[in-house]
Amino acid sequence: MFDIERVVNELGDLSRRLEPECCSGADAARLTEIAALGERFIVHIKAMYAQRAAETNAWRRRSHAATADQWLAETSGCSEGAAREVFATATRLEVLPDTAEEVRAGELSLAQAAQVSAGAMADPGAEQRLLRTAKRSGMRELRAEKERVVAAATDEIEARRRAKAERHLRTWTQGLATHGVFSGPTEDVAKILTALEPLTKARFEQARVAGEREAHDAYRFDAMVTLAETGGVSGVRPAPHAVRVRVDLPALVRGRTEPGEVCEIPGVGPVPVAHAEEILSHGLLQLVITDGVDVQTVVSNTRHVPSALKIAIAERDRTCKIRGCDCDRMLERHHTHDYADSHRTTYTELGNLCPKHHDLVTHKKYETIDNGDGTWDLRPPAHAPPGEAAA
Ligand SMILES: [Zn+2]
Repeated sequence: MFDIERVVNELGDLSRRLEPECCSGADAARLTEIAALGERFIVHIKAMYAQRAAETNAWRRRSHAATADQWLAETSGCSEGAAREVFATATRLEVLPDTAEEVRAGELSLAQAAQVSAGAMADPGAEQRLLRTAKRSGMRELRAEKERVVAAATDEIEARRRAKAERHLRTWTQGLATHGVFSGPTEDVAKILTALEPLTKARFEQARVAGEREAHDAYRFDAMVTLAETGGVSGVRPAPHAVRVRVDLPALVRGRTEPGEVCEIPGVGPVPVAHAEEILSHGLLQLVITDGVDVQTVVSNTRHVPSALKIAIAERDRTCKIRGCDCDRMLERHHTHDYADSHRTTYTELGNLCPKHHDLVTHKKYETIDNGDGTWDLRPPAHAPPGEAAA
């Protein structure tokens, strides 16, 4: 039972004696992976003991904290919100033995287990699918999949009512910066984000030409300021009003989703089917259904990419096409065959890449290699500068 004390003391010794500069790059990479596995075990052990301490109220004798969340936050040096999430995950794991076993074995981090268990509590039938997503995809996709599961299993009318009733935009000033948070129905937030998109792209392009590179979120902020100053019309076309909704046909026919089905605004999140019906009636919807246009047959003889093809590619390549890259922002369409040679624009010859990977292909002579599973690899040019990685 007290083995953990001995192990942690040894880890403490190791941490104090650490000399990473004496270790080769390859060893450092391997040891990072081992430390990440160790971190999973430690985080799990801490969560399980904290849960036991909270259940028995024993933490009260060791701390003046008002709540168990506060005690764990102080003990861990984290926020109370993060501590609350640890307890919530530990509680959910008590009734989800499969997920708990993966965490116990170090196959799943507690952060991944938080997402899987939140989804599995809403829809127990989705637990295995979420576990597979956790292993195959990055955190962003896992969170999106969990949101889908929860939305499909939640009473839509009630969820929509609550999102509207709890809508808010709050700001507070600290020093010379003003911070803010907002929340509202996803369909309304999507209108704001859609309006910001072309302005963000324009700002990104402007920065690229000037040889600058800042975070996407910084350019989004600039876009918001431009929107406020100009109404979005200063040299940039206002955002199109069509909002894309990805919906399963049976859900649309039925009028609500059932577990396992989706109705969502791509890149934003789930919305009620009623919202899809509403905009469908206004003719503003780009409806994406799997048995719609057979996109493989859409061929254009111009460089212009037809609308159905654009939507099909955006649906197929929701993240950068390079294997292992889960960037889903500012994606750029890449033609694998130079249009000047082929004079064709087809579904199979187009793919979405993130700006960094697109840059390697268009300016650094990297070649794309089709993996045959919907992803591409990159082959560096024969004389690539040493250390230049396809990252
Ligand atoms: Zn990428």
